[in-house]
Amino acid sequence: MKRVAVLGSTGSIGRQALEVIAANPGRLSVRSLLCSRSLDALEAQRREFPGSLACALSAERAPSWCMAGEGALEAALDGCDIVLNAITGFAGLRASLEAARLGLPVALANKESLVTAGCLLRDHVAAGLVIPVDSEHSTIARCLCGAPPREIVLTASGGALRDWPADRIEGAGPEDVGAHPTWDMGPRITVDSSTLVNKAFEVIEARWLFPGAPVSAVLHPQSVVHSLVRLGDGSWRALLGRPDMRIPIQHALLGDDPAPGFAAGDEPCDWPALTFAPLDLSRWPAFGLVTRAGEEGGTMPAAANAADEVAVDAFLRGRLRFGDIARVIGGVLESTARRDVYCYGDVLEGDAAAREAAGRVVSGLC
Ligand code: MG
Repeated sequence: MKRVAVLGSTGSIGRQALEVIAANPGRLSVRSLLCSRSLDALEAQRREFPGSLACALSAERAPSWCMAGEGALEAALDGCDIVLNAITGFAGLRASLEAARLGLPVALANKESLVTAGCLLRDHVAAGLVIPVDSEHSTIARCLCGAPPREIVLTASGGALRDWPADRIEGAGPEDVGAHPTWDMGPRITVDSSTLVNKAFEVIEARWLFPGAPVSAVLHPQSVVHSLVRLGDGSWRALLGRPDMRIPIQHALLGDDPAPGFAAGDEPCDWPALTFAPLDLSRWPAFGLVTRAGEEGGTMPAAANAADEVAVDAFLRGRLRFGDIARVIGGVLESTARRDVYCYGDVLEGDAAAREAAGRVVSGLC
């Protein structure tokens, strides 16, 4: 029986992880539930999984049934066998680093961990203790089965605006990107899917997870092929199926052990025609900016992430137009001096400086 610490339990991935755990009684159990401050949802989850420890990272006043604030993360990790890190945003990094310090396997759904601090998690990755949950990276890991990749190609749906004429994208508002065409996700990642910042983050993550192979992305609007990997002999491997995050979550928690199926009724004859096309980078300028920041390394990807978090927040509040998100990222990266990263504090500093710079760029655009 694996005891799982479900971090970010009230978000989209966290809730689906709890479904997976409930579907595998006797093999998986909930050791702890950790959220930011959604206490009502947390209490309902605690009742559904009796015996689990409930923790809230940012709650101001903690009810008696819940650990809160200082020490909540450490309490959540105590006594678990595997950590599912589905915390949203930069806040998830500390959890990954703490899990790595404790030598715990991390089923990683928090992109920012590898994006902003891949160099600090490199040893944990090399030890096979970072197991990707994201559908793209899960696919690559499953297709490789330990073989070295020659080339990795991530598939991108293109987000909600992919069929819009280029001149209209600039002025799109939150209501236009609100619904992702193929995946059901939280608000920030839905916007990041439309700017392709999400895909740029996945390129950076793939470089850390599968070092040595070139990584690129192609447009695949149907989201049936969850990424492709080319082997040494030139052949391609891929996993196919209608998007369902419970499948990669279950794989991350249980590996290749036989497990209950989730994709009932998913039949190839019902799939739309599968298409692949190169990304038109003029439509998605943020993709190029963020992947370049990833290549520069050091504090640059943390700066790109911070700029994007600030810009997306301003966009969702109606303060910025869609086209401004890439402008904020570009403006912040231009004014950022790259520093090497040796510890968590270096990443925190890079993040804080970029947030300040992003605030200034946003004010200038409003
Ligand atoms: Mg993904």
